[in-house]
Amino acid sequence: MTHPGPTPRAIAAVLGSAVGDALGAPFEFGPEGAFSARFPRPGHGGEMCGGGGWDPGEATDDTQMAVLLGESLLECGGLRLPDVFDRFRRWAAGGPKDIGLATEAVLTSGDPWDLAAPLHFQVNQRAAGNGALMRATTSAVHFAPRGREATMDAARRIAALTHGDRAAWEGTAVFHELIRVALTGEDPLAALPETLAAVHPGHRERFAAVLAPDWHPDRATEFNGAVWPCLGSAVWALRTTTSYEDAVRAAVDLGGDTDTVAAVTGGLAGAVYGPDALPERWTDPLHVPLPGYGDRTLRAPQLSELARRLASPEPPEVDPS
Ligand SMILES: [Mg+2]
Repeated sequence: MTHPGPTPRAIAAVLGSAVGDALGAPFEFGPEGAFSARFPRPGHGGEMCGGGGWDPGEATDDTQMAVLLGESLLECGGLRLPDVFDRFRRWAAGGPKDIGLATEAVLTSGDPWDLAAPLHFQVNQRAAGNGALMRATTSAVHFAPRGREATMDAARRIAALTHGDRAAWEGTAVFHELIRVALTGEDPLAALPETLAAVHPGHRERFAAVLAPDWHPDRATEFNGAVWPCLGSAVWALRTTTSYEDAVRAAVDLGGDTDTVAAVTGGLAGAVYGPDALPERWTDPLHVPLPGYGDRTLRAPQLSELARRLASPEPPEVDPS
């Protein structure tokens, strides 16, 4: 067994999330067990099947937004929230095949970047979806080297661009921290108690419930498009399997919001198991179109390069003296 370093793990997190997204997309809103009924045994191929409007290997809004976020971080030399919001807005105007309800409402409202999500939440009172969690792998690998507090803080601020409910921020912050731990080669499941201790006190109990070792997706009290069962299901899939492939299979097999649950699972499992664990028959057909950005489409090599650059330490400042 090899022990990949932080950068290969970061590449596997970003790629692993994208693969989960594309694998789950054709099964979105389907019943539990649909994936394993069609593909009973792991390792047999054909799973990246397309359907429901998706080409085989085509990644959805989860990965498209993650790419735009990652490119903003690189091109701005750090987190510039208005720039991230502008890129998201251009993408939303480009007619993506899939876009979450809160995300669409906020990005098409015409309100300024710092008011759009709070105003939407004020009126709708529903913004605890998984739409910020699903796109967080690129920011997670970028902020990981700065430590727990900095990565969780960045996660909250990016989530708040589209989701006014603090639950969405806290779920995204937990994901950032679990990725950070996994990139160091430690077990993110062992880090759950410490991670939960860093969650906002008003939201801790509800996340503790879905992240508990005895929690099962059948116990979810909401559809898995909500942030709590989505994160809980991803951690459950990681906990109850022993490979990247099995974790993502388990996630898609839950049914419901399969692309996003598998994208979150795939990010975690990629960071834990490293790039060699990702089946080539899944990474080869992977492609990420970017609506609003012409004909740009990223394939696995470009996604890997994006992840590598995001995970690389900042170049040392040149001393002018
Ligand atoms: Mg999606």
